[in-house]
This record gives sequence, structure tokens and C-alpha cells, in this order.
Amino acid sequence: MALPWLNTVEQQLAQSYTSQRFHHAQLFCGPIGVGKFSLSEQLANSLLCQNINTHMARPNTVLAPCGQCKSCSLTLAGNHPDKRVTQVEGQSIGVDDIRAISDFMNHSAAQNGNKVAIIENCEKMTTAAANALLKTLEEPSNSRFLILTTSQPAQLPATILSRCAKTDIKVASTQSAQQWLESLNISGFEWLPLFYAQPLLIQQWQAQEQLQHIDTLYKFATEFKHSHNFTALVDIINKQPELIRIFTLFLSEQLKQQLILGMSFDAYQNAQQALNEFLQNNTQVLGLNLPLAVSRLAHALRNI
Ligand SMILES: [Zn+2]
Repeated sequence: MALPWLNTVEQQLAQSYTSQRFHHAQLFCGPIGVGKFSLSEQLANSLLCQNINTHMARPNTVLAPCGQCKSCSLTLAGNHPDKRVTQVEGQSIGVDDIRAISDFMNHSAAQNGNKVAIIENCEKMTTAAANALLKTLEEPSNSRFLILTTSQPAQLPATILSRCAKTDIKVASTQSAQQWLESLNISGFEWLPLFYAQPLLIQQWQAQEQLQHIDTLYKFATEFKHSHNFTALVDIINKQPELIRIFTLFLSEQLKQQLILGMSFDAYQNAQQALNEFLQNNTQVLGLNLPLAVSRLAHALRNI
């Protein structure tokens, strides 16, 4: 899947590789849904490709492995022995995960070429895990590469940050995101521009058939202060609690608009405060009475 907003950074990475300035530890920072993991995979597959040197040297090249060599066929089959991906859902990345990566790096390559390890969301490393990773970072080897991704670089220890080549990944032109989404038949939703920085998040919502639900949440948010019946809203949030963040984001955007239109700053701050409390209660209080919390929030916003 080609993500057009990554072209420039792909070219820069290819250039730094061919000019031998390529750092053995790459850190990709950027918002959720910008394509950091996709870029990591592209880079890893390119580093593993046996034709990497001729391939990367083409002018204006984007990261695309040759797709023909033995290594590429292993990649395509999804079981390249010289590639290791660490992805964790929810919990933290522990010291055992990092030791497994070190072991992997220390063994010789099955294809006599490079070896690449990807760690997605590396801010999830525990302190012990980060310390263990430092050892790997401090002992670079010519044919071993580490690719880290994070949406929370501020949570990373300075010792890790200082030993990686950091690249900020972002959607530089909203037009490229918009066109890409249109190619997936995603258009027409008023709220889409709020997420142009995270096109893959929108794509994920499409795959999960969430777009209509999110549109409904958006409409609820625009009429929230004036409505008294929250049954449908509560229904959606009950079924998909993670959408509460999207709903509060929509409300927060509304408040920003009202501030521009003349709402006093005190009132704005109070309203954002009520919103933050609502979100906190929803994510932290078990067994929260959602219908009550929603109508309290509407009441609070009406009276500000
Ligand atoms: Zn290849």
C-alpha cells in the first residue's frame, strides 16, 4: 500500500543508505495512524532485499524492495528469518522481549545479509527493558538494524533518544491525505479534516465499519447542548467505549469554535475542564452510570 505523504521521507532514508550515512537505529515519531509501522516494514523489507544496493541507488527512489530475490520472496511469504517484529497490545514491552531481540541480533543472518528488528510503540518499554535495549544500541554492527516507532517520544528515556536517528513522520500536505482517502471512497464527512494527520486511523474505521457511527457522534456533538435525549448516543458509546475519546474530541473542537466566536476564556476553560472530567471518569471509573454522566455533561455545558 503506497502512502503518498511518506514519499519524501522514504527518499531521504534511501539516500542516507546509499551515501553510507544510514544510522543502525532508526526512530520514527508521529501520530497514531500516520503510517509509522508501514514505513518500518517498507524499510525493513528493503534492508533485507538482496538487491538493496542497486535498488536504493535509483534516483528519487521510494523504499521498495525488488520483490524478485530469495529474501523478498521470504518477506512476501511473511516468514523472513532475519526480520523480527515486536508489537504489543496494551501491556508493556518487558525486558524479556528486549533480550529476545538481542539474541536475534547476535545470531548470524540466515540469508547472509542484514538483520532487522522492529519495535512498535517503543514507549511501552519498561525501564528495565529500555536499559537492556541500550546495550544493543551501544554495540552497533554493520548488518544489524533496529527500527523503533512511537507516538509518544516524550516518554522515551533521553539515553534511548540520543542513540537513535530520529525522523518525524507526518502528513505534510493535507491534500495528499484527502486524495488518498478519496481513493478509498472516504469523503464527505464534515469531521474528516480533523483526522487528516492520521489517515490510517480513518482507514481502520472504514474497515471496522465505524465511519457512520463516528458521523453520528459528530452530529450528536454539534447539537449536544440543545438535546435532552441521549439514548442513541449512550448506545453507541456502550457498544464501543473507545469512541468516547472521539466524541469528546468533537465537543472540544466545538468549544474552540465558540471561543473564536466570542465565548469568554473563563467559560471556555470551565467547559474544557468539564469535558476532561467526563473523559477521565469514563476511562477510569468502573461501572460508571453513563446515561447520568452524559446528561450531567450536557447540563454543565449548557450552564457555562
Ligand atoms: Zn529483493
